[in-house]
Amino acid sequence: MTWQNWAGTASADPARRYWPHSAEDIATAVTTAAKDGLTVRALGSGHSFTAAAATAGAALDLSGWSGIVAADLDSGLITVRSGTTIRDLNAALDALGLAMPNLGDIDAQTISGAISTGTHGTGAKLGGLATQVAGLELVLADGSVVSCSADENPDLFNAARVSVGALGVLSTVTLQCVPAFTLAADERPMPLDEVLARWGEFTEDNDHFEFYWFPYGKNALVKRNNRITGNGGPGEMPGWRRFFEYEVMENAAFGTLCRTGRAVPATIKPLNRLAAATLSKRSYSAPSHQVFVTSRRVRFVESEYAVPREALLDVLAALRGGVTRLANPVMFPVEVRVAAADDVWLSTAYGRESAYMAIHQYVGLPYRAYFDLFESIATSVGGRPHWGKMHTRDAAYLAAAYPRFADFLRVRDDTDPSRLFANPYLEQVFG
Ligand SMILES: Cc1cc2nc3c(=O)[nH]c(=O)nc-3n(C[C@H](O)[C@H](O)[C@H](O)COP(=O)(O)OP(=O)(O)OC[C@H]3O[C@@H](n4cnc5c(N)ncnc54)[C@H](O)[C@@H]3O)c2cc1C
Repeated sequence: MTWQNWAGTASADPARRYWPHSAEDIATAVTTAAKDGLTVRALGSGHSFTAAAATAGAALDLSGWSGIVAADLDSGLITVRSGTTIRDLNAALDALGLAMPNLGDIDAQTISGAISTGTHGTGAKLGGLATQVAGLELVLADGSVVSCSADENPDLFNAARVSVGALGVLSTVTLQCVPAFTLAADERPMPLDEVLARWGEFTEDNDHFEFYWFPYGKNALVKRNNRITGNGGPGEMPGWRRFFEYEVMENAAFGTLCRTGRAVPATIKPLNRLAAATLSKRSYSAPSHQVFVTSRRVRFVESEYAVPREALLDVLAALRGGVTRLANPVMFPVEVRVAAADDVWLSTAYGRESAYMAIHQYVGLPYRAYFDLFESIATSVGGRPHWGKMHTRDAAYLAAAYPRFADFLRVRDDTDPSRLFANPYLEQVFG
């Protein structure tokens, strides 16, 4: 059965599939595949735009290996099986009065796929999901099951938190969670020039700040989410309004605009301006994961780079100038987020305060020239591509972009000398 990712940008025909239900099952699958000369990849939920999970060898489907293994409510340390989706994780944490301190835009990913590719949300003082990992258990190429944390096998821990699955198959992930919290969400259109003028202020003054900018529109959609305690905040958004704003406007109506633009490309720029002009103001409060996560039913392709935060305005100005000269117009908005510097060797925010710029195009519309333009701008300031989003960087570039790249490769040589976990994408990025 052919495997395909969410965006339809990668597909593969695994020679064999396994459905493990325990760490022992994972170890058996790994050693059996190795004995039969097959390479091995763990499948998440296929939400990477790159072919990170693709394999012609043995594919491990971990969807049956899900749920909480251990929960310490005093410390907030929660251990989950590696195939747990973020949606199921959020529900389980909610029931325990806990939450993840920060999340990305969607919850369909597995926790393992998300951390392995450096998935992140936004927040100047917060790191990506891998920074919330306190311990890992993984099955190595020889079938051994090892644990690692800051105190136990620290090099393996530093390498495995973001590894694109190159070191082994994660069997469990231990997360440092926080008490459940409420976010007050404020989403409103604002002239892009005002957003850029107040970029530093918005970044510093909000727990979670991001904005979306339609490349031919004058307005950006600014999202500011801040923690509140007690009964303060604007209150929940009525169900009908939530349905209208997020399902109708952001999915159904936007999907219709995209299909129109794809059928008649000359309409894309005016439709893009229309989408920017019809952005509405929304204020509400809700449990954190309900604010972080939105549904994304309109399919797109995406590239994203982390750049030094101080370079963001120059990067955006260069993209803004270049996008008007593209032969094929762009339908989807640009998304800008921030993250704190962290210490995870292959985290896109390793060692530097970062801004993330993500560009998208509706599926089926030409994107190559746009993505090339963006990549040339982002790499000119030492940008680091998201491991799960489209880019053309190779190991030579990435070695210069990541101070601990050689250390990561050393751990890979130690744990997987015969490259059991290889695939063409890993050859591109790790050599
Ligand atoms: C609509 C959409 C919205 C998104 N929003 C965001 C966002 O807000 N922020 C962000 O940073 N990214 C975002 N992404 C990207 C996404 O979070 C990542 O690509 C993530 O990896 C997807 O997780 P997955 O479970 O689908 O993993 P997959 O894409 O299936 O796999 C990713 C990698 O993880 C490896 N892997 C999976 N399970 C294991 C395991 N048990 N052990 C070892 N390796 C494993 C795979 O082999 C592969 O290399 C988005 C993607 C989409 C399609």
